[in-house]
Amino acid sequence: MALKTVTATVECPECFGEVELKDVMQNEIVQCADCGADLEVVSIDPVVLELAPDEEEDWGE
Ligand SMILES: [Zn+2]
Repeated sequence: MALKTVTATVECPECFGEVELKDVMQNEIVQCADCGADLEVVSIDPVVLELAPDEEEDWGE
């Protein structure tokens, strides 16, 4: 079973700056160097980034 990885430069969905990806896998979380947003690699063929869910959000009732 080979892990598929990709190296690419894609646009940050938050600040529209360039995010350099190196050997990332699908579902990997990367961080934008410009705005610091956590980005999830939702697809690698083609490469698609989405803002990662904010895990620090308070779900308390
Ligand atoms: Zn950004």
